[in-house]
Amino acid sequence: MDKLAPFGGGTAAVATGEPFRFQLLVEIANFGDLRRQLGCQRADLLAGLVSERIGRVMPTASVAIIGRTQIACGFRGSRGDAMDGHIVALDKAFERPFTLDDQSVTILLTFGGASAPAANVDEVAMVEQAEAALAEARTAYRAVTHAVVPRTASDTLRLARELDQAIDRDELVLHYQPKVHVRRQEITSAEALVRWRHPTRGLVMPNDFIPVAEECHLIDRMTLWTIRRAIADQRDLAARGHDLRLFINIAGQLLADTAFVREACALVGGSDAKLGFEITETSVIRDPASAIANLQIFADFGITIAIDDYGAGLSSLAYLKQLPARELKIDKLFVTQLTSSNRDPLIVRSTIDLAHALEMEVVAEGVETHAALALLTVMGCDMVQGFLISRPVVLPSLIQYLDEGRHRVPAPDPLAGFGGFAASRRQA
Ligand code: C2E
Ligand code: MG
Ligand code: MG
Repeated sequence: MDKLAPFGGGTAAVATGEPFRFQLLVEIANFGDLRRQLGCQRADLLAGLVSERIGRVMPTASVAIIGRTQIACGFRGSRGDAMDGHIVALDKAFERPFTLDDQSVTILLTFGGASAPAANVDEVAMVEQAEAALAEARTAYRAVTHAVVPRTASDTLRLARELDQAIDRDELVLHYQPKVHVRRQEITSAEALVRWRHPTRGLVMPNDFIPVAEECHLIDRMTLWTIRRAIADQRDLAARGHDLRLFINIAGQLLADTAFVREACALVGGSDAKLGFEITETSVIRDPASAIANLQIFADFGITIAIDDYGAGLSSLAYLKQLPARELKIDKLFVTQLTSSNRDPLIVRSTIDLAHALEMEVVAEGVETHAALALLTVMGCDMVQGFLISRPVVLPSLIQYLDEGRHRVPAPDPLAGFGGFAASRRQA
């Protein structure tokens, strides 16, 4: 990414009446096939051809080749959704094949982008969101754009007002990330992760609006919306033969909110949906007495309690023992560094043993590599979740994923089988 041409100052952009900045990553989706067709040397020319044509379609953009398969474009626009129009134009322009040494070559592209108000750009967040969007686009088979939302005081208030309306207008959407049971080689549950389909900013990620929802007391309404949606989705899944438990993230402040607890229980009690709640340890430490009492109420309603991000915050063994939790999720910080650090494998192993001693199942989140998966399997980890298996996806994609049933393919040994499962998902 460091070869990217700079965009220039944000204030200038506002002065020219173009208050939004965009970072679009364009990837050659069929590079592997084309390399087979053309050979390595000629395939290496493809990124240059793509960047030239992008430059012609978007003459004001700064276009940079950032690898054999990726091209980055930076540009400005007057509306937050200006990128959509450019993607349509690029898609159209690339329908026309290239001619390379008398051979006709059709290049298929994947688009991932990020947008942000030009006056207030966090460069790193912008690049990270564009990369995350591209990764999502690879499995979603469509262009994905994320919005980077700044957080000044007035932005927070505006965002809160918009979020308030977004809940009523059903602009929120749940993406589901499966959790796979290692020994059973089965997807037994999935986690619901909320996103906001903002009418002009594109897809806003939870870290950009959950803090605002918490600060502006919208988190209860948002979470009740999430529970309602998950109940409907769980019913839909069960009707299609996939009776998975769906886990919802519950913010710490809600564990002491009696009105929320009452309404959440009324929703869950009035349905036969199989749900779980993910809570962090830190949320219990805030007001342990009411949190533990309310978690017990949830558990009595048949809701499975999972402790999220274990190890990331303040851990207290005293509370851990008192929680009616059935699952412990090891924070992805330990999992992503599992194979590169000396200390993290020890922490993960002892956490797995501790959770088992407390009769909890262990979920490792953030499993990104086969090496981490293999190590976790040997350590006795019960469930895994992470990009290696699947990114969070919309409900229809989850259903398709389950319908294909590739994870049920029998394997000669658990490690090989699981590796095969993960590999087949990545190709899908
Ligand atoms: P979380 O509950 O710990 O969710 C896991 C986050 O890690 C998700 O980010 C997920 O996309 C990401 N992730 C999953 N697998 C991998 C992996 O292999 N590698 C890496 N690097 N990351 C992975 P996301 O969706 O951006 O959510 C961020 C956080 O926002 C969540 O963390 C959760 O705390 C919060 N959140 C999401 N949805 C809700 C919600 O409905 N209510 C509340 N209160 N919080 C939510
Ligand atoms: Mg979670
Ligand atoms: Mg987590």
